[in-house]
Amino acid sequence: TSISSYWRSRRRQSISQERHKSRPIELRSNEVVYGVTGLIGNTPLVRIDSLSDALGVEILGKAEFLNPGGSVKDRVALRIIEDAEQRGLLHPHTGSRIFEGTVGSTGISIATIAKARGYDTTIIMPDDVALEKVNALQALGADVQRVRPASIVDKKQYVNIARRAAIEFGRSDIGKGLENAHKSHELHTGSASVVVTTTSSHVNAEGSTDDPLDEDLLSKPRGFFADQFENRSNFEAHYDGTGPEIWRQTNSHVDAFVSGAGTGGTIAGIGRFLKSMDEEVQVVLADPEGSGLYNKVKHGVLYDRREAEGTKRRHQVDTVVEGIGINRMTNNIDLGIPIIDDAFRITDVEAVAMSRYLVQNDGLFLGSSSACNLVACIKFVKKRGWRDGQTLVTILCDSGNRHYSKFWNDDYLRKANIPVDRSIIDDLIAQP
Ligand code: PMP
Repeated sequence: TSISSYWRSRRRQSISQERHKSRPIELRSNEVVYGVTGLIGNTPLVRIDSLSDALGVEILGKAEFLNPGGSVKDRVALRIIEDAEQRGLLHPHTGSRIFEGTVGSTGISIATIAKARGYDTTIIMPDDVALEKVNALQALGADVQRVRPASIVDKKQYVNIARRAAIEFGRSDIGKGLENAHKSHELHTGSASVVVTTTSSHVNAEGSTDDPLDEDLLSKPRGFFADQFENRSNFEAHYDGTGPEIWRQTNSHVDAFVSGAGTGGTIAGIGRFLKSMDEEVQVVLADPEGSGLYNKVKHGVLYDRREAEGTKRRHQVDTVVEGIGINRMTNNIDLGIPIIDDAFRITDVEAVAMSRYLVQNDGLFLGSSSACNLVACIKFVKKRGWRDGQTLVTILCDSGNRHYSKFWNDDYLRKANIPVDRSIIDDLIAQP
């Protein structure tokens, strides 16, 4: 396979000498897959040649933008829906509807997979989200409802509206729902063991979980709240899927895994899986401006009041990096924080510079969170003084084509006073 030839050639000689030889195009897979969900996952790792060669390490990006819904979130949406089906909370072709509150890629992934599985989708989002996302969701047949932006503690916040709408949708058929019934689960990863809480919004009036075998319920339309922030299926999609893929693709050798966190599912799931294979793997957080996670990792609190003056907070500020950064703890973030070894703050300016650098040098057209991840790779390598071919793996979450209206819009950036200057990356690389 192409994977083993990569490792074979690494042993023989440096990749940089090898890579310019022309090679026949290899098929990613010679199987016929079943439907759109068969296209999800099994993404290649792509070596970022410019950065790897400049730094003397191997920087490998998991090409998640190749998923059919265009992002890493396809894995999560599929796992959430499959787990709900298994628990008897969703039944295909019964008029059931999946609800989610999301500004980003998750809605597109859910809408895509829902149609393939026989469900409808309602996506609730703030009304300041880029119109192209609304258009994409509508094209995928989702019902899109835009609401006034609000804080997470407000019941009018879009995630809270989605939860409520899911309960109310099912209410006439399945009885009064009780939201937020908590269950404790024990999680074992290698030697570490922590207790986490998951949220189920599908609990009947008596407080017991719906019986999946109740024939009466099977044919009735159901409302289901996907709940990516709290739903443990998000973590598991990465712990069972993305993590093992990376381990196989790297021949069981990863020195560091670098990722941002939005819901936390990616860094927690992949990070915990890799550490369960090799506890030496360094898990590194790339945190954008306005997010509290850097502080949480470094100082144990999300938000340090002493430095609050003049600090941007994510929900108040229009940053150009989308999909990562958060100022509250979620079940999935909770799973991630204890295993993060180091964290870096990444500015909008650095992320923009990286995205332009990658197009110029590698022909890679990536979204804002991928760019943040790669800036963090440089900062981490510099801090550790690595230059002996160590392997860093990161996630290329989505492509630049999701970001035309802000991150990839030079006019927009100019008005926002964000310089577009890829030499910033050369400077980062040149630092001692
Ligand atoms: N990048 C993009 C483009 C995303 O949409 C998201 C999810 N919000 C992430 C990164 C972060 O992934 P996670 O939710 O697993 O932390």
